Amino acid sequence: MDTGKVYLDNNATTPVDPKVLEEMLPFFSERFGNAASRNHAFGWQADEAVQNAREQIAELIGARPQEIIFTSGATESNNLAIKGITKNHEGINGHIISCQTEHKAILDPLKQLENSGFEVTYLRVDPDGLIDLNELEAEITDRTILISIMYANNETGVIQPIKEIGELAHKRNVLFMTDATQAVGKIPIDVDELGIHLMSFSAHKMYGPKGVGALYVKSKIKIDAQIDGGGHERGMRSGTLNVPGIVGMGKACELCLQFMSNDETRLGILRDKLEQQLLRISGTSCNGHAEKRLSHVSNISFEGLDGEKLLLSLNEIAVSQGSACTSATVEPSHVLKGMGMSDELAFATLRFGLGRFTTEAEIDFAVEKVERAVTQLRH
Ligand code: PMP
Repeated sequence: MDTGKVYLDNNATTPVDPKVLEEMLPFFSERFGNAASRNHAFGWQADEAVQNAREQIAELIGARPQEIIFTSGATESNNLAIKGITKNHEGINGHIISCQTEHKAILDPLKQLENSGFEVTYLRVDPDGLIDLNELEAEITDRTILISIMYANNETGVIQPIKEIGELAHKRNVLFMTDATQAVGKIPIDVDELGIHLMSFSAHKMYGPKGVGALYVKSKIKIDAQIDGGGHERGMRSGTLNVPGIVGMGKACELCLQFMSNDETRLGILRDKLEQQLLRISGTSCNGHAEKRLSHVSNISFEGLDGEKLLLSLNEIAVSQGSACTSATVEPSHVLKGMGMSDELAFATLRFGLGRFTTEAEIDFAVEKVERAVTQLRH
């Protein structure tokens, strides 16, 4: 396997920051205790490390440590939030509002709720990828129990009007949940200021390890556990805590707080350079709102090309196609289609995701490779 590639797929996952790894390592060996062991120092040491991580994570998002529930990642956090909050509303014809361009880790649990009698409204987005706040307001009814709108899109980086949604949810007395997996650690977030009740995120998108994530649950909100046994995490998520992973997530959050502003500016400059050069190639266009998007993401269509063939010929750079692969079929991206794009153009689209370790030389290299591959394929 060739690992000498230039990695521009940081929305899929990020490398673990060496400082994060260093912090985690002792918790695999000499500090191996179970954080729930109350009777000896091994347990106390693990518990202290978990509490420290809870504080680091809470600080990044403006929450209180006890509002952080550890999970195995954002997929689990989304499931826990959506299924856990609706449990008390079963059989009352409850209504949820979400959006067509959400991640499958939101759309699939919602589909299950629809099967058990809930009504779900999926808001459309405009060609820039943004929801319409008037449409959102018009869809809220007396039966609406939850609004679930993602913070920033994983394919385009488009950032939804979270503060306005929070205000609306507050005004109409509806709970507001956001899948912030792509946004946490990348842009400043304050859950109180934004009126967020539930928020999911994941360590491996912010230079932490895979298999650990969190759900922010605002104080006094009760959600039903999806995994029972032992009553860990204030009864909302049982199971022995993944101490090394949690320590890594905490450190990753601390580093994000430290580097966020710098990373955002530097990657914005690199992303703009990448985009300007790619957009010089004929038949290219950039997807998503020009300003309301994350500074490290670029989603580019190459008209008339087969994205899969383009990916294959770009064997020295790791990028991803703007489409979701299911087990047997490759479907055009529901995100791009939701923005009004044709299947053909959606298939001809690539996502470039820059990260903390991306260099200018790598961007220059990627531009050169893409230009060459497109020219060859068009011949
Ligand atoms: N939501 C969004 C927006 C994502 O980008 C991802 C990761 N692709 C997930 C949820 C799922 O996260 P995890 O890999 O931690 O389960």
